[in-house]
Amino acid sequence: MSENNQITELHPNIFWFNGEDPSSHSYLIRGDYKNVLIDSGVDRNFSKLQECLLTLRLKVSDIDIVINTHEHFDHLGANRYFQDYALIAAHRFAATKITVEDRYVTMYKSGDLNEPPLRVHLWLENRFRFDLGNYSLEVVHTPGHTSGSICIYEFTRKLLFTGDTLFAGGTLSYIGESGSVGDYINSISLLETRKINELYPGHGGISLSPEEDMKNAIMNAKALLKNDGQVEVTSFREVS
Ligand SMILES: [Zn+2]
Repeated sequence: MSENNQITELHPNIFWFNGEDPSSHSYLIRGDYKNVLIDSGVDRNFSKLQECLLTLRLKVSDIDIVINTHEHFDHLGANRYFQDYALIAAHRFAATKITVEDRYVTMYKSGDLNEPPLRVHLWLENRFRFDLGNYSLEVVHTPGHTSGSICIYEFTRKLLFTGDTLFAGGTLSYIGESGSVGDYINSISLLETRKINELYPGHGGISLSPEEDMKNAIMNAKALLKNDGQVEVTSFREVS
């Protein structure tokens, strides 16, 4: 693992760009065929993101696909700088909210009416696959935090990019306006059936103990139901 203070190379050609609160992290996978960015962060995260790309000698137009893990503003605000060049991909339940700026769910409101609307070019379904040659990414629909939440599973090294679905230690994010605790427990239970070596969340640190994280996440979600919401959750609701 090599790193500077903003960029960490987790595996050959897989990079973690550390997002400053409230922005989510972004992950770059340099594929043999296509370059994929997972989450773009908040709008004002863009200049930092651009710096990270330049450090790796990449231009914004070198990103071929941007995958949004879900429909929250802190994961997709900078999409607008990529959407003229890259295909923007999100689960169809997220796409329906992003494309109409459903701010009750996305918490996203464009600051300038002249800004072009956010687009989603690829409306993803469960098990959609991106074959990048050196890496292969599978979409796993994991509703719960929101209805359009997905995790991205990388096959060759068994890595899981989780957005806000699963954090290190199993800390819960809040259950969003389009989300459901029941869906959440079911989604994590399905993830538990996979072999996962490393967990790459949208906020906080990465984790090398996904099994334990998933167990804790389910326990926390059940406690949330039992205690009528009185359980500590991590919230990323501050609107930029
Ligand atoms: Zn979220």
